[in-house]
Amino acid sequence: MPIATVDPATGRTLKTFEPMDAAAVEERIAKAHRTFREYRETDFATRAALLRAAADLLDKEREEIARTMTTEMGKTLAAARAEAAKCAKAMRWYADRAEGLLADEHPGPDDVEDSGAHRAVVRYRPLGVVLAVMPWNFPLWQVVRFAAPALMAGNTGLLKHASNVPQTALYLGDLFRRAGFPDGCFQTLLVGSGAVEGVVRDPRVAAATLTGSEGAGRAVAAAAGDEIKPTVLELGGSDPFVVMPSAADELDYAVSTAVTARVQNNGQSCIAAKRFIVHEDVYDTFTARFVAAMERLTVGDPMAETTDIGPLSTEQGRADVEELVQDAVSRGAQALCGAQRPASLPEGWFYEPTVLAGVTEEMRIHREEAFGPVATLYRVRDLDAAVALANDTPFGLSSNVWTRDEDEQRRFARDLDAGGVFFNGMTASHPALPFGGVKRSGYGRELSAQGIRAFCNVTTVWFG
Ligand code: NDP
Repeated sequence: MPIATVDPATGRTLKTFEPMDAAAVEERIAKAHRTFREYRETDFATRAALLRAAADLLDKEREEIARTMTTEMGKTLAAARAEAAKCAKAMRWYADRAEGLLADEHPGPDDVEDSGAHRAVVRYRPLGVVLAVMPWNFPLWQVVRFAAPALMAGNTGLLKHASNVPQTALYLGDLFRRAGFPDGCFQTLLVGSGAVEGVVRDPRVAAATLTGSEGAGRAVAAAAGDEIKPTVLELGGSDPFVVMPSAADELDYAVSTAVTARVQNNGQSCIAAKRFIVHEDVYDTFTARFVAAMERLTVGDPMAETTDIGPLSTEQGRADVEELVQDAVSRGAQALCGAQRPASLPEGWFYEPTVLAGVTEEMRIHREEAFGPVATLYRVRDLDAAVALANDTPFGLSSNVWTRDEDEQRRFARDLDAGGVFFNGMTASHPALPFGGVKRSGYGRELSAQGIRAFCNVTTVWFG
């Protein structure tokens, strides 16, 4: 893929970039490695002041960077502004808490004595240079949720961002530098995916984190595994959104949340609810209201304040979604709305909000991630059927369940194979809550204490 800004609302190429050559990449790896040796010795207060300065800059420049994101990948301007604000908040969260999250741990005196020591401490030390391979869907947030904890822990970072968000990628490298981080703490590598393996294998790079597709995750993890380097993978998801009869009293709230959960970010979110599994007692009512609400959404110019859904980020992305829908319809699924490009928007990569019913196992969409505003609906008889269907997917990122019944809540929390179970609401990331999945959604966790410790050398310091 060429490195370029192509406006998804018009399909026009606005700016192209020459990828960095091998010498430029080498220079940045060397600088990241050199900088690490000094930066690791800074104290938490120094790092926190730098990260707060980055958050202040980001707040000040919110409108400008939001417009860049919208231009590069098509999310609505309102969503882009909210993303920038969320990033500043996460930076401050880690600036305030990193020292506590990485404080020395002291095993109990009996255990220390039993280990033969008179003192033992568990210490969290930084790992070194960490490579982040990141996607375009939340072009600031995906990076910041790695960078904030990694930098607070004393690591240095290299960013290989998606090829369709080069201006956002360059902005990020620049942001941390302007905030006062030593040159080399956080740098953008403007390279295609072919250059990633060499960086992963470089002995000066200690670890890698990737958010994106299964294929990209497999490639990075395979190279890192071969070099015995740790990775965190945050891959796709096809999260269930289960609605049980006890949600009947708040069905309108469940429906409006279902719509937001499905179409957030123009439907291109790993934690978007994608499969709607509805108990037969409430299925007809839920379906009627859900379809009506999806049909009411405004698809159009992502810069317009009245737009709910902008274009998909790339032409290929829309083609992938169209193929999944066509495959399902050709095998007997019913399109209750959408399933086409909006006729009024001939330019750009728009797709109408779509609801498919009658989805069966033979359809690709039953197993694959629909990365666009397409919901699948399933009718189930009871809780067991809901759990079985929810787990009948290669993914296991998060899950949403609407029930006020405490026994049902216990069952779902115990039995859903996912990295999150959100009751009576939609999955959303928050700095305080671990984020990540199981099965083909990846491994490792971002955010919270888990996220900052992911790139630490957990060191046992033992005194005999
Ligand atoms: P990719 O996984 O291809 O892109 C994500 C990042 O990985 C980009 O920086 C990309 O670089 C890089 N990359 C791609 N292939 C390799 C490789 N072999 N080795 C190293 N790095 C690589 O996602 P797409 O944009 O192609 O989207 C495809 C699908 O992936 C989506 O439809 C969705 O299902 C899933 N996805 C999930 C995301 C999530 O949030 N979990 C985010 C994005 C996609 P480059 O851009 O240069 O190719």
